[in-house]
Amino acid sequence: MEKINRNDKCPCGSGKKYKSCCLPQLEAQRFAALSHLRETCGIPHGEPVSTAKAIFIAVECQKSGQLQRAETVYENVLKLEPENQDVLFAMALIAQSKDDKDAAVNFLVRCLNADPGNYNYCIRIGSIYNSLGMPEKAQECFQSIKALIANTPQDQFNLGNLFNNLGELDEAIVCYEQALRAKPDFGEAHFNLGTVHLKKNELAKAVECLQTALKVNPSYSKAHNNLGYTLSKMGDLDGAIDHYKKALSISPDFAQAHYNLGNALKEQGLTDEAMACFEKTRELQPTMPELAEIFK
Ligand SMILES: [Zn+2]
Repeated sequence: MEKINRNDKCPCGSGKKYKSCCLPQLEAQRFAALSHLRETCGIPHGEPVSTAKAIFIAVECQKSGQLQRAETVYENVLKLEPENQDVLFAMALIAQSKDDKDAAVNFLVRCLNADPGNYNYCIRIGSIYNSLGMPEKAQECFQSIKALIANTPQDQFNLGNLFNNLGELDEAIVCYEQALRAKPDFGEAHFNLGTVHLKKNELAKAVECLQTALKVNPSYSKAHNNLGYTLSKMGDLDGAIDHYKKALSISPDFAQAHYNLGNALKEQGLTDEAMACFEKTRELQPTMPELAEIFK
């Protein structure tokens, strides 16, 4: 939006200067909206009020479960900044949590219209469409992102990671596979693709990808760890233990690998060895939630 100066002609077409036509009314509206924002946020008089401060307060409200209050604050911010994407997106998430599908979609469309080129939003919007049972709309978003992003293997990989983090695993697979067609020795892409297959419980495919990642980079400790975990899910405990040990010979402070090794040894009935692994895990990462069960 172009900024209008006080001495410009008013955009309403009256022929008068902006400052002596529509500007005073707009300023009054803005002042009223800010006062209202001050009230809904509980900001004391004398302290400056801004939309940034209001958004911060709304986010805190959301974190502590005061959704109603967060919503009121956001609504007032939108009166001042109707195209604020962060706020529109937050409102969409709140509507979604209240199962108000129409409102969620309405906010999402406004959010996207505010900046159609922002693929970070677009991808999240697509994911929400999916969760709302609107796969065609989701595909529209996903396709437009794929068209937007340059097709280097690194871009495809990054896009795959975004999909992966959102739980859009099939989309992630498409991206990783595309990256790998252009760059077959892209170890991290093999690793992430294997990890997605593991999440989907497609164990044979996971093994294949993780083994390929290890062919590219034999000292890839995370790949050894995940391959071990996949093998243990397939019932191959000896294979699993072998890979956990390889992971630990490369990265001795790899807490998750110590923990996984402990579990595999425990399943083999080697209780003392297993406990030693769990102790080591606790030493490296005392806050790991799984440990609570073991050391209770
Ligand atoms: Zn005017």
